[in-house]
Amino acid sequence: MVKPGLKIGIALSIILVLPSLFFSAYEIGNLNQNEAVIDSIYSSQLESVLFSINQYSDDVLSGWANQLDKGKYGIDKEIELLETKNYSIDAFFLVNSDRHQLFPKENIPQDSINGLTEKLEAVYLLSEQEISNLQRYIKSGYQKIGVLNADMNGKSLFAFARSKDTLKVETILLLVDTDKFIKENLGPKIQGIAQDQYYISVIDRKSKSELYSNVIHDSEDKNIQQRKKIWLFPDYDLGIQMRGNTIEDLVRKRTKTNIIMLVIMDVILLLGAWFVYKSIQQQIRLTRLKSDFISNVSHEIRTPLALINMYSETLEMGRVPTEEKKQEYYKVINTEANRLSNMVNNILNFSKIESGKREYHFKETDLQEEVEIILQNYGQHLDNKGFAVSFKASEDFPNLLIDKEAVSEAIINLIDNAVKYSDETKKIDLVCERDSEYAILHVIDSGIGIAIKDQALIFDKFFRVSEGNLAYKTKGSGIGLSIVKHIMDAHGGKINVRSASGKGSSFSLCFPLK
Ligand code: ADP
Repeated sequence: MVKPGLKIGIALSIILVLPSLFFSAYEIGNLNQNEAVIDSIYSSQLESVLFSINQYSDDVLSGWANQLDKGKYGIDKEIELLETKNYSIDAFFLVNSDRHQLFPKENIPQDSINGLTEKLEAVYLLSEQEISNLQRYIKSGYQKIGVLNADMNGKSLFAFARSKDTLKVETILLLVDTDKFIKENLGPKIQGIAQDQYYISVIDRKSKSELYSNVIHDSEDKNIQQRKKIWLFPDYDLGIQMRGNTIEDLVRKRTKTNIIMLVIMDVILLLGAWFVYKSIQQQIRLTRLKSDFISNVSHEIRTPLALINMYSETLEMGRVPTEEKKQEYYKVINTEANRLSNMVNNILNFSKIESGKREYHFKETDLQEEVEIILQNYGQHLDNKGFAVSFKASEDFPNLLIDKEAVSEAIINLIDNAVKYSDETKKIDLVCERDSEYAILHVIDSGIGIAIKDQALIFDKFFRVSEGNLAYKTKGSGIGLSIVKHIMDAHGGKINVRSASGKGSSFSLCFPLK
């Protein structure tokens, strides 16, 4: 059969703990998913920023091409205007059926102009395929800026076609100083977009050095997270990173706190379930002990009642032959009646304690004298049972402020237990002594003793040791020591037990001296 405590434990786990553990596991799983979603949103946000910067550089070149097309002063003048206004433009090279003409910037020296013309001419011829594509585009009404692959020493070369009139198409090569273009045109745009939010930089792919950045000083930890090629300058990358706390950092921090909170919540829940389980287990134990108590008490009452009944009936019927026998029967009846009355008193006192109604009246008392009185009253009874009883008084034992009746009741309970739980060695010693803090009365027997594991439990109400032959057979209600403990608590004192299985026990009533 499954123990009731175990059943409750299983039920508690199923009702309370398991769902919450499942929920925690689900949440922890989800946190990673959430992190991935936020991460991807963050990445696409960075990507769109890079896209817009790329788009902008495209727009700048298209704007120039557009100006040459639509400008009101004619192409030669417009080229001159563009070159004076944009310091990154080094030269235009115009190619049509009538002329191949270089339009260099004013400050370019004459000797390098010749070399440049030759070089551009050569590139033009080499890029035939690409240029014819650009021309095809323009014929269908779309002007595209092409990047020409040429080793131009820090310069970038672009090409675009324009329709001179409906029949003729001409090509323009545009030589741009890359460094200047990035600083002059992309720089302000990058500054505008980045503000305080991003750290954006342009990186030379070959040398891996930073050509431009919106944050000039290096005090910040730059750890570029996203990189994209610049469409028009394939040798350069745009890099971007959040400044300060990145969303990744925030998400990681939040995830960490959430997981910690969930774990704390689970631990609290487990502890709570554990406490509930323990207290239910305690209640079940108490209920079982209570029902044991009722059957123990009924049992204990029945024996003296049966004896009283039997002896009084025999006497009543006049069947007792001698006076001596009669006296013996009267004694049995008297002893059993006393036992009954002690038992009932104990139960009444216990019920008073339980309902909080027990009152104590403290008076200065000579405890040693009280012990003597108890021994006088019970001496005969103990003698009959074959017990050798000794009392060792102490010379400097002080008078104590105690409730005489209650303390006598406690001592009688201890003597009664010593009698009940003694096997062959029937010996009880009472010893009074004092130390610096307490006046102490020890009740020592050489009985069956108490196992260490039970020693802490014997003062609990209804608790009885059920292991061992004598302990099992001996009748009792399991409330005696709990009453003694209550009495000692009321006196601000304590009860100690020293015992070893099979060797005997020593119970000590300790009364505080102050
Ligand atoms: P009971 O009515 O069972 O004697 P008590 O509260 O007086 O109830 O004692 C609780 C238990 O402590 C007893 O059942 C017994 O097992 C153990 N006990 C008490 N006194 C002694 C003793 N002197 N020697 C051995 N065991 C004892």
